[in-house]
Amino acid sequence: MMTRQFTSFDPPRRTLMGPGPSDVYPRVLAALSRPTIGHLDPAFSDMMEETKALLQYALRTGNPLTLPISAPGSAGMEACFVNLVEPGEEVIVCVNGVFGGRMSENVLRAGGVPVVVEDAWGMPVDPQRLEDALRAHPSARLVAFVQAETSTGVLSDVRLLTEIAHRHDALVIVDAVTAVGGCALEVDAWEVDAIYTGTQKCLSAPPGLSPVSFGPRAVERLQSRRRPVQSWFLDHTLVMGYWGDGARRSYHHTAPINSLYALHEALLLLWEEGLEQAWERHARLHRGLRAGLEALGIEFLVAPEHRLPQLNTLRIPEKIDDATVRGRLLSEHGLEIGAGLGALAGKVWRIGLMGHSARSENVFTCLAALEQVLGELGAPIEPGAAVDAAGSALQETPLAQSA
Ligand SMILES: *Cc1c(COP(=O)(O)O)cnc(C)c1O
Repeated sequence: MMTRQFTSFDPPRRTLMGPGPSDVYPRVLAALSRPTIGHLDPAFSDMMEETKALLQYALRTGNPLTLPISAPGSAGMEACFVNLVEPGEEVIVCVNGVFGGRMSENVLRAGGVPVVVEDAWGMPVDPQRLEDALRAHPSARLVAFVQAETSTGVLSDVRLLTEIAHRHDALVIVDAVTAVGGCALEVDAWEVDAIYTGTQKCLSAPPGLSPVSFGPRAVERLQSRRRPVQSWFLDHTLVMGYWGDGARRSYHHTAPINSLYALHEALLLLWEEGLEQAWERHARLHRGLRAGLEALGIEFLVAPEHRLPQLNTLRIPEKIDDATVRGRLLSEHGLEIGAGLGALAGKVWRIGLMGHSARSENVFTCLAALEQVLGELGAPIEPGAAVDAAGSALQETPLAQSA
């Protein structure tokens, strides 16, 4: 019999420009490897308090109920639905991509009745259709939508959609997994009721945590539930005791201690840079990447006014094989870009410029690699044009201007 040999896992070095995870900041990786301490240690409690405050900064909110769920973005999504939906309730779900579809599935699993308002993939959520749905379903008390739809690269208008929902006495749940840190988001000023995000997109920490924030109306809704939340682990009324004030913290589950060191460090980096500066950095690098892609003759799926800077969805050029290109980018250039998801599989590529991946060296690496691979596959490409175009675009908008 053969004996199998095992060795430590040493991952290949990659440049991550897909839809997440993004490149993790070296300082965040260093934080991850610091010694583990007890989760009820006072030093750890202090760090949890700071993490909450930094999350409030990143979300632009004063909501006391702001904490990271100990599981990935999908769990943050589930937490919002299980806490705010009661069996039999109608929930309006705006679907313009994969993640809106998952929200609708979550409503069902929480015993609710989803009323789906569909928009074409590649288009933002249409405010008029939401308004119509709220008129047609006056008993609906909850509206859910995605701010930054990662499957299509589309930005929807959180402020306007929230305003419409509130006019009809409905609260909102907003998916901001790809949004936070990469584009403008104002939880308090826009009066968002419940929001969840993730760590591995524009925050550039490893995956595995999902920051969630509930505003006053959502807390009131939670406290006046007729039935207990069906999930024990995600029940906010219990989790709050664990993330509550230092001395009164009580055991709920064991926090992923080192992952929280990493999140704390990633949020600290965002705070040091400044939130608005981070938004501007993503916008600027998007302009550079866009100029380069246009020079390669590659088209965007989404109209300019609805594009996410942090997630660029591109039509795969004719006669070019999707898997061949992505495979060669990975094996020859150590570069990961994203495939199409759901209905867009095989039709688009998704190039992420998220968090630590949103820097000029990544833009140039990506354009040079695409030029080489596409050129070898016979695409008509002018050598050097993409990198030149990106260079000019980045020079026109130096970062200092935004400060
Ligand atoms: C990535 C993502 C999620 C899911 O996050 P996971 O950490 O993969 O569970 C949810 N919504 C959107 C918009 C996302 O981009």
